[in-house]
Amino acid sequence: MTSFLPATKPLRLIPGVGPPDAKIAIVGEAGGAYENIQLRPFVGPAGGVLEQCLHAAGLIRSEVYLTNVIKVHPPGNNIAPYFDSRTGVFTDAGLQWVDELRKELNNLKPNLVVACGATALAAMTCHGSKGQHRIMKYRGYLGSSHGFEPELKVLPMIHPAASLRGQYVLRHLIAVDLKKAKTESEFPELKRPERQLVCEFGSVSEVLEWLEYYAQQPIVSFDIEVLNFELACIAFASSPEVACSIPLADQWTEQEEIEIFRGLQRVLGNSNSIKVAQNGIFDIHFLLTKCGIEVRGPIRDTMIAHHVMFPELPKGLAFLVSVYGGSQAYYKDMVKFENIKGES
Ligand code: URA
Repeated sequence: MTSFLPATKPLRLIPGVGPPDAKIAIVGEAGGAYENIQLRPFVGPAGGVLEQCLHAAGLIRSEVYLTNVIKVHPPGNNIAPYFDSRTGVFTDAGLQWVDELRKELNNLKPNLVVACGATALAAMTCHGSKGQHRIMKYRGYLGSSHGFEPELKVLPMIHPAASLRGQYVLRHLIAVDLKKAKTESEFPELKRPERQLVCEFGSVSEVLEWLEYYAQQPIVSFDIEVLNFELACIAFASSPEVACSIPLADQWTEQEEIEIFRGLQRVLGNSNSIKVAQNGIFDIHFLLTKCGIEVRGPIRDTMIAHHVMFPELPKGLAFLVSVYGGSQAYYKDMVKFENIKGES
Protein backbone atom coordinates (compact mmCIF):
# COMPACT_ATOMS: atom_id res chain seq x y z
CA MET A 1 0.00 0.00 0.00
CA THR A 2 1.29 3.46 -0.83
CA SER A 3 2.06 5.86 2.00
CA PHE A 4 1.73 8.80 -0.46
CA LEU A 5 5.37 9.55 0.44
CA PRO A 6 8.60 8.80 -1.44
CA ALA A 7 8.88 5.08 -0.72
CA THR A 8 11.27 3.71 1.87
CA LYS A 9 9.46 0.63 3.02
CA PRO A 10 5.80 0.09 2.12
CA LEU A 11 3.42 0.97 4.93
CA ARG A 12 0.39 -1.19 5.59
CA LEU A 13 -3.14 0.09 5.10
CA ILE A 14 -5.26 0.43 8.25
CA PRO A 15 -8.75 0.74 6.75
CA GLY A 16 -11.84 2.16 8.43
CA VAL A 17 -14.14 -0.34 10.18
CA GLY A 18 -17.78 -0.33 11.24
CA PRO A 19 -21.31 -0.75 9.99
CA PRO A 20 -21.87 0.79 6.53
CA ASP A 21 -25.09 2.40 7.84
CA ALA A 22 -23.44 3.85 10.98
CA LYS A 23 -24.94 7.17 12.04
CA ILE A 24 -21.63 8.31 13.54
CA ALA A 25 -18.17 8.18 11.97
CA ILE A 26 -15.26 8.85 14.32
CA VAL A 27 -12.14 10.08 12.55
CA GLY A 28 -8.73 9.88 14.22
CA GLU A 29 -5.33 11.11 13.11
CA ALA A 30 -3.31 8.05 12.04
CA GLY A 31 -2.77 4.46 13.04
CA GLY A 32 -0.33 3.77 15.89
CA ALA A 33 1.84 0.75 16.65
CA TYR A 34 -1.07 -1.40 17.90
CA GLU A 35 -3.23 -0.50 14.92
CA ASN A 36 -0.33 -1.43 12.65
CA ILE A 37 -0.35 -4.97 14.06
CA GLN A 38 -4.10 -5.60 13.87
CA LEU A 39 -4.68 -3.32 10.85
CA ARG A 40 -7.73 -1.88 12.58
CA PRO A 41 -8.18 1.67 13.88
CA PHE A 42 -8.32 2.51 17.60
CA VAL A 43 -7.28 -0.86 19.03
CA GLY A 44 -4.43 0.48 21.24
CA PRO A 45 -4.52 2.55 24.48
CA ALA A 46 -6.24 5.53 22.79
CA GLY A 47 -8.87 3.10 21.49
CA GLY A 48 -9.37 1.83 25.06
CA VAL A 49 -10.08 5.38 26.29
CA LEU A 50 -12.40 5.99 23.34
CA GLU A 51 -14.35 2.84 24.17
CA GLN A 52 -14.73 3.84 27.85
CA CYS A 53 -15.95 7.29 26.86
CA LEU A 54 -18.36 5.85 24.27
CA HIS A 55 -19.87 3.73 27.05
CA ALA A 56 -20.12 6.75 29.36
CA ALA A 57 -22.08 8.47 26.58
CA GLY A 58 -24.41 5.50 26.03
CA LEU A 59 -22.76 4.35 22.78
CA ILE A 60 -20.99 1.13 21.87
CA ARG A 61 -17.99 0.68 19.63
CA SER A 62 -19.71 -1.70 17.24
CA GLU A 63 -22.38 0.85 16.30
CA VAL A 64 -19.91 3.56 15.18
CA TYR A 65 -17.65 3.68 12.15
CA LEU A 66 -13.98 4.21 13.06
CA THR A 67 -11.35 5.52 10.70
CA ASN A 68 -8.28 7.77 10.42
CA VAL A 69 -7.17 10.59 8.16
CA ILE A 70 -3.79 8.95 7.57
CA LYS A 71 -4.61 5.27 7.10
CA VAL A 72 -1.12 4.00 7.83
CA HIS A 73 1.17 4.04 10.85
CA PRO A 74 3.62 6.91 10.24
CA PRO A 75 7.12 5.68 11.22
CA GLY A 76 8.00 6.94 14.71
CA ASN A 77 4.43 8.30 15.03
CA ASN A 78 5.79 11.35 13.21
CA ILE A 79 2.88 13.08 11.51
CA ALA A 80 4.99 15.94 10.10
CA PRO A 81 5.38 14.43 6.59
CA TYR A 82 1.58 14.69 6.31
CA PHE A 83 0.43 17.54 8.52
CA ASP A 84 1.91 20.62 10.15
CA SER A 85 0.13 20.71 13.50
CA ARG A 86 1.33 24.27 14.21
CA THR A 87 -0.26 25.82 11.11
CA GLY A 88 -2.93 23.18 10.49
CA VAL A 89 -1.79 22.72 6.87
CA PHE A 90 -1.47 19.37 5.09
CA THR A 91 1.50 18.47 2.92
CA ASP A 92 0.89 17.03 -0.58
CA ALA A 93 1.12 13.52 0.87
CA GLY A 94 -1.37 14.51 3.59
CA LEU A 95 -3.76 16.01 1.04
CA GLN A 96 -3.92 12.72 -0.80
CA TRP A 97 -5.10 11.07 2.41
CA VAL A 98 -7.66 13.83 2.89
CA ASP A 99 -8.96 12.98 -0.59
CA GLU A 100 -9.26 9.33 0.42
CA LEU A 101 -11.16 10.35 3.54
CA ARG A 102 -13.55 12.40 1.40
CA LYS A 103 -14.31 9.41 -0.81
CA GLU A 104 -14.75 7.16 2.22
CA LEU A 105 -17.15 9.49 4.06
CA ASN A 106 -19.01 10.56 0.91
CA ASN A 107 -19.79 6.88 0.44
CA LEU A 108 -20.72 6.26 4.04
CA LYS A 109 -22.82 9.43 4.53
CA PRO A 110 -23.03 9.31 8.34
CA ASN A 111 -25.34 11.78 10.08
CA LEU A 112 -22.39 13.05 12.10
CA VAL A 113 -18.60 12.96 11.88
CA VAL A 114 -16.68 13.23 15.17
CA ALA A 115 -13.27 14.73 14.36
CA CYS A 116 -10.78 13.57 17.03
CA GLY A 117 -7.96 16.05 17.40
CA ALA A 118 -6.51 18.80 15.22
CA THR A 119 -5.54 16.66 12.21
CA ALA A 120 -9.05 15.25 11.77
CA LEU A 121 -10.61 18.66 12.38
CA ALA A 122 -8.39 20.29 9.75
CA ALA A 123 -9.15 17.45 7.31
CA MET A 124 -12.90 17.83 7.80
CA THR A 125 -13.16 21.59 7.80
CA CYS A 126 -10.62 24.10 6.81
CA HIS A 127 -7.04 22.91 6.45
CA GLY A 128 -5.93 25.33 9.13
CA SER A 129 -7.38 28.50 7.66
CA LYS A 130 -7.90 31.09 10.43
CA GLY A 131 -6.58 28.67 13.05
CA GLN A 132 -9.80 26.69 12.89
CA HIS A 133 -7.95 23.45 13.51
CA ARG A 134 -7.44 24.49 17.14
CA ILE A 135 -9.16 21.62 18.89
CA MET A 136 -9.25 23.05 22.42
CA LYS A 137 -11.06 26.09 21.07
CA TYR A 138 -13.56 24.30 18.83
CA ARG A 139 -14.24 21.04 20.68
CA GLY A 140 -17.91 20.65 21.49
CA TYR A 141 -18.98 23.14 18.81
CA LEU A 142 -20.92 21.67 15.89
CA GLY A 143 -19.96 22.84 12.42
CA SER A 144 -20.06 21.76 8.78
CA SER A 145 -17.49 19.99 6.67
CA HIS A 146 -15.63 21.78 3.93
CA GLY A 147 -14.88 20.04 0.61
CA PHE A 148 -17.21 17.09 1.23
CA GLU A 149 -20.11 16.32 -1.08
CA PRO A 150 -22.68 16.30 0.45
CA GLU A 151 -21.68 18.55 3.32
CA LEU A 152 -21.43 16.65 6.60
CA LYS A 153 -22.16 17.71 10.14
CA VAL A 154 -18.95 17.73 12.19
CA LEU A 155 -18.33 17.67 15.94
CA PRO A 156 -14.71 18.38 16.94
CA MET A 157 -13.57 16.38 19.96
CA ILE A 158 -10.32 16.08 21.93
CA HIS A 159 -8.30 13.08 20.76
CA PRO A 160 -8.50 10.28 23.38
CA ALA A 161 -4.69 9.89 23.19
CA ALA A 162 -4.36 13.36 24.79
CA SER A 163 -5.82 11.93 28.01
CA LEU A 164 -3.12 9.24 28.18
CA ARG A 165 -0.48 11.81 29.10
CA GLY A 166 -1.68 12.60 32.61
CA GLN A 167 -4.61 14.83 31.71
CA TYR A 168 -7.21 12.41 32.94
CA VAL A 169 -9.85 15.15 33.22
CA LEU A 170 -10.01 15.35 29.42
CA ARG A 171 -11.92 12.06 29.46
CA HIS A 172 -14.82 13.89 31.05
CA LEU A 173 -14.88 16.31 28.10
CA ILE A 174 -14.61 13.48 25.58
CA ALA A 175 -17.61 11.75 27.21
CA VAL A 176 -19.57 15.04 27.27
CA ASP A 177 -18.90 15.55 23.55
CA LEU A 178 -19.80 11.96 22.72
CA LYS A 179 -23.14 12.47 24.50
CA LYS A 180 -23.75 15.43 22.20
CA ALA A 181 -22.66 13.23 19.28
CA LYS A 182 -25.28 10.63 20.22
CA THR A 183 -28.07 13.23 20.21
CA GLU A 184 -26.87 14.87 17.00
CA SER A 185 -26.42 11.56 15.17
CA GLU A 186 -30.19 11.10 14.99
CA PHE A 187 -30.44 13.53 12.03
CA PRO A 188 -28.00 14.83 9.39
CA GLU A 189 -28.98 18.52 9.39
CA LEU A 190 -27.15 21.15 11.37
CA LYS A 191 -30.02 22.68 13.36
CA ARG A 192 -28.93 25.84 15.12
CA PRO A 193 -31.09 26.99 18.05
CA GLU A 194 -33.55 29.66 16.96
CA ARG A 195 -32.90 32.85 18.84
CA GLN A 196 -34.06 36.41 18.34
CA LEU A 197 -31.50 39.10 19.07
CA VAL A 198 -32.93 42.60 19.28
CA CYS A 199 -30.15 45.16 18.89
CA GLU A 200 -31.62 47.95 16.73
CA PHE A 201 -34.10 50.43 18.09
CA GLY A 202 -36.09 53.07 16.19
CA SER A 203 -36.33 55.38 19.19
CA VAL A 204 -35.47 55.68 22.85
CA SER A 205 -39.04 54.78 23.81
CA GLU A 206 -38.55 51.34 22.21
CA VAL A 207 -35.52 50.83 24.45
CA LEU A 208 -37.52 51.94 27.48
CA GLU A 209 -40.32 49.49 26.61
CA TRP A 210 -37.83 46.61 26.58
CA LEU A 211 -36.38 47.77 29.89
CA GLU A 212 -39.88 47.96 31.39
CA TYR A 213 -40.43 44.37 30.21
CA TYR A 214 -37.23 43.16 31.88
CA ALA A 215 -38.07 45.10 35.05
CA GLN A 216 -41.19 42.85 35.37
CA GLN A 217 -39.42 39.50 34.81
CA PRO A 218 -38.68 37.17 37.74
CA ILE A 219 -35.32 36.15 36.28
CA VAL A 220 -33.05 38.31 34.12
CA SER A 221 -29.60 37.49 32.77
CA PHE A 222 -27.41 40.42 31.88
CA ASP A 223 -24.00 41.10 30.39
CA ILE A 224 -22.08 44.28 29.68
CA GLU A 225 -19.45 45.08 27.06
CA VAL A 226 -16.84 47.67 27.90
CA LEU A 227 -14.79 49.61 25.33
CA ASN A 228 -12.22 52.19 26.34
CA PHE A 229 -13.45 52.03 29.96
CA GLU A 230 -16.96 53.03 28.84
CA LEU A 231 -20.15 50.98 28.86
CA ALA A 232 -20.48 50.13 25.13
CA CYS A 233 -23.64 48.03 25.44
CA ILE A 234 -25.68 45.98 27.87
CA ALA A 235 -27.73 42.90 27.02
CA PHE A 236 -30.63 41.20 28.80
CA ALA A 237 -32.47 37.91 28.39
CA SER A 238 -35.20 36.22 30.37
CA SER A 239 -35.43 33.14 28.17
CA PRO A 240 -33.01 31.26 25.88
CA GLU A 241 -34.98 32.41 22.81
CA VAL A 242 -34.93 36.20 23.01
CA ALA A 243 -32.16 38.61 23.96
CA CYS A 244 -32.01 42.37 23.77
CA SER A 245 -28.71 44.22 23.45
CA ILE A 246 -28.84 47.97 24.03
CA PRO A 247 -26.06 50.04 22.46
CA LEU A 248 -24.96 52.93 24.60
CA ALA A 249 -21.80 54.65 23.42
CA ASP A 250 -22.49 57.74 21.24
CA GLN A 251 -25.99 56.58 20.30
CA TRP A 252 -28.26 58.87 22.25
CA THR A 253 -28.66 62.46 23.33
CA GLU A 254 -27.71 63.24 26.93
CA GLN A 255 -31.38 63.32 27.98
CA GLU A 256 -32.08 59.97 26.26
CA GLU A 257 -29.06 58.43 27.93
CA ILE A 258 -30.29 59.59 31.34
CA GLU A 259 -33.67 57.95 30.66
CA ILE A 260 -31.99 54.71 29.58
CA PHE A 261 -29.79 54.67 32.67
CA ARG A 262 -32.89 55.14 34.87
CA GLY A 263 -34.48 52.21 33.02
CA LEU A 264 -31.37 50.11 33.59
CA GLN A 265 -31.56 50.89 37.31
CA ARG A 266 -35.22 49.75 37.35
CA VAL A 267 -34.22 46.38 35.83
CA LEU A 268 -31.02 45.76 37.74
CA GLY A 269 -32.15 47.38 40.98
CA ASN A 270 -35.29 45.21 41.25
CA SER A 271 -34.61 43.27 44.48
CA ASN A 272 -37.35 40.75 43.64
CA SER A 273 -35.83 39.39 40.44
CA ILE A 274 -32.98 36.90 40.18
CA LYS A 275 -30.00 38.17 38.16
CA VAL A 276 -27.89 35.74 36.15
CA ALA A 277 -24.40 36.71 34.99
CA GLN A 278 -21.12 35.19 33.88
CA ASN A 279 -18.34 36.57 36.06
CA GLY A 280 -20.86 39.09 37.39
CA ILE A 281 -18.37 40.51 39.89
CA PHE A 282 -16.79 42.44 37.02
CA ASP A 283 -20.09 43.70 35.61
CA ILE A 284 -21.61 44.59 38.99
CA HIS A 285 -18.50 46.47 40.10
CA PHE A 286 -18.26 48.34 36.78
CA LEU A 287 -21.96 49.27 36.79
CA LEU A 288 -21.73 50.59 40.34
CA THR A 289 -18.46 52.48 40.13
CA LYS A 290 -18.63 53.81 36.53
CA CYS A 291 -22.39 54.14 35.97
CA GLY A 292 -23.87 54.52 39.45
CA ILE A 293 -26.16 51.54 38.84
CA GLU A 294 -26.66 49.20 41.78
CA VAL A 295 -27.51 45.57 41.07
CA ARG A 296 -29.86 44.22 43.75
CA GLY A 297 -31.59 40.90 44.44
CA PRO A 298 -30.22 37.36 44.35
CA ILE A 299 -27.36 36.79 41.92
CA ARG A 300 -26.63 33.50 40.14
CA ASP A 301 -23.16 33.50 38.63
CA THR A 302 -22.66 30.81 35.96
CA MET A 303 -18.87 31.04 36.17
CA ILE A 304 -18.77 30.63 39.94
CA ALA A 305 -21.44 27.89 39.95
CA HIS A 306 -19.53 25.90 37.34
CA HIS A 307 -16.22 26.39 39.11
CA VAL A 308 -17.69 25.17 42.42
CA MET A 309 -19.07 22.04 40.75
CA PHE A 310 -16.10 21.28 38.47
CA PRO A 311 -13.04 23.12 39.83
CA GLU A 312 -10.67 21.21 37.56
CA LEU A 313 -12.40 22.34 34.34
CA PRO A 314 -12.22 25.69 32.51
CA LYS A 315 -14.95 28.18 33.48
CA GLY A 316 -14.94 30.79 30.68
CA LEU A 317 -18.09 31.45 28.66
CA ALA A 318 -16.73 29.77 25.51
CA PHE A 319 -16.18 26.58 27.48
CA LEU A 320 -19.57 26.72 29.19
CA VAL A 321 -21.36 27.21 25.85
CA SER A 322 -19.43 24.27 24.35
CA VAL A 323 -20.82 22.03 27.10
CA TYR A 324 -24.30 23.47 27.75
CA GLY A 325 -25.10 25.34 24.52
CA GLY A 326 -26.35 22.40 22.41
CA SER A 327 -25.85 23.10 18.71
CA GLN A 328 -24.95 26.76 19.20
CA ALA A 329 -22.17 27.98 16.85
CA TYR A 330 -18.88 29.14 18.35
CA TYR A 331 -20.20 32.51 19.43
CA LYS A 332 -16.92 34.40 19.23
CA ASP A 333 -16.79 33.66 15.49
CA MET A 334 -20.34 34.97 14.97
CA VAL A 335 -19.50 38.60 15.80
CA LYS A 336 -16.01 39.79 15.05
CA PHE A 337 -14.67 42.49 17.33
CA GLU A 338 -13.00 44.08 14.26
CA ASN A 339 -16.45 44.48 12.67
CA ILE A 340 -17.89 46.48 15.55
CA LYS A 341 -14.81 48.36 16.70
CA GLY A 342 -15.18 51.19 14.21
CA GLU A 343 -18.90 51.58 14.94
CA SER A 344 -18.74 52.27 18.65
N1 URA B 1 -4.80 7.31 17.27
C1 URA B 1 -5.50 7.59 16.16
O1 URA B 1 -5.64 8.75 15.78
N2 URA B 1 -6.04 6.60 15.48
C2 URA B 1 -5.94 5.34 15.85
O2 URA B 1 -6.47 4.49 15.17
C3 URA B 1 -5.21 5.06 17.03
C4 URA B 1 -4.66 6.05 17.73
